[in-house]
Amino acid sequence: MKTIIEPFKIKMVEQLRFTTVEERKQLLEAAYYNPFLLRSDDVLIDLLTDSGTTAMSAKQWSALIDGDEAYAGSRSYYKFEDAVKDITGFKHVIPTHQGRAAEKIIFSILGQEGKIIPNNTHFDTTRANIEVSGAEAVDLPLGIKPEVLADFKGNMDTEALAELIKRVGRENIPVIMLTVTNNTGGGQPVSMANIRAVSEIARANGIPFYLDACRFAENAMFIKLREPGYADVPVKKIAQEMFSYADGCTMSAKKDGLVNTGGFLAMNDDALAMNSRNVLIVTEGFTTYGGLARRDLEAIARGLVEVLEEPYLEYRLRSVQYLGDALEAQGVPIMRPTGGHAVYLDAKRFASHLPQEQYPGQSIVCALYEHGGIRSVEIGSVMFGKYDTRGALIPSQMELVRLAIPRRVYTQSHIDYVAEVVCEVFAKREALPGMRITYEAPVLRHFTAHFERIAG
Ligand SMILES: *Cc1c(COP(=O)(O)O)cnc(C)c1O
Repeated sequence: MKTIIEPFKIKMVEQLRFTTVEERKQLLEAAYYNPFLLRSDDVLIDLLTDSGTTAMSAKQWSALIDGDEAYAGSRSYYKFEDAVKDITGFKHVIPTHQGRAAEKIIFSILGQEGKIIPNNTHFDTTRANIEVSGAEAVDLPLGIKPEVLADFKGNMDTEALAELIKRVGRENIPVIMLTVTNNTGGGQPVSMANIRAVSEIARANGIPFYLDACRFAENAMFIKLREPGYADVPVKKIAQEMFSYADGCTMSAKKDGLVNTGGFLAMNDDALAMNSRNVLIVTEGFTTYGGLARRDLEAIARGLVEVLEEPYLEYRLRSVQYLGDALEAQGVPIMRPTGGHAVYLDAKRFASHLPQEQYPGQSIVCALYEHGGIRSVEIGSVMFGKYDTRGALIPSQMELVRLAIPRRVYTQSHIDYVAEVVCEVFAKREALPGMRITYEAPVLRHFTAHFERIAG
């Protein structure tokens, strides 16, 4: 059969609340044109993030009831630990309340002024946790343009990595990270060959190598579909091979853990694990729960099984591609090919009349909400822009709008509606106004910034 269907049926529903364009105009203004500040009840289709927005399965919900809420040594912890070890093979598994807590722990130990931490592309919280430690976060993407098709656009530039190590000295690089899939780089996958190559460089220089594994299962499925030699390998085996080249990982289970909250830090290094657990106890909780309810660990253990089921992954990647195809068919500029968890609009080409200083991505994000009640997020100069010493914006390399697809939540007709709204906004793109920031926080400003529309 050509049709790839949702490999589940729906047994519980949540009502959507409809609003009018007039209402949304007011709501958007009251939220300072920052959809992070909207109430979700005022959003019709919420594509802000795929993080923690998963619909859990009946088996996960029933596992929650079986959770053992013991403070120490909970049975639920051991189930979780077994599930993580089964896939990653790492010796130490440290639960955290979400991915950034794992980042905070490891970078507070490894990062300090003068240290440099490379990645294909750092996710915003990863970069922030590194910078807070005093270290420098360096991105080494391949830098393939959004409109160019390639199988593994998430890859790290390994020549640039070798170059960086030579230039700054291996003693100044406490860890090399690789994000699979490359979220900030468009949800694009990293090939097994690239993981192996980065691992070889890391080992040759005696530098630990960690995966930012948030979307390891989607990445593994892309390897199966696209990389020679993997078509007949079970996706779980592919995932296991990916982890076998690394010394540890940080993980947000809110993505490929198929849960609403949770994460972990895992590693082979005994001394680092001991240090990490000490930080965990001070800041998160005891080693067998790390800031989570024990029942949450049950849901993660089950989620890690379900996420590697191939009908699920086939549906997942296909349903994201479905939206990308619908937009491309109407000439909407998107990042090609579509990534694992999201479709990225190329805001530079979409709103080509707006200079980067006027945040074209933010303008599109606002228009999608106003026109159709769709919430999305800018991934461009609002998120990554910096200022030079004279206060002029140093813009981000790319201006993207991310339409992230929550896992197992929306049906095909929801997605058809999204495509229709995006196409209508695109048809009237010349009317998109520029945006200006009126308030911003010193770090991660996109979450709380205020904007206004530039009259024109
Ligand atoms: C979401 C995410 C994180 C942070 O995880 P949280 O659970 O949101 O704290 C880190 N890296 C990547 C690639 C992510 O997508």
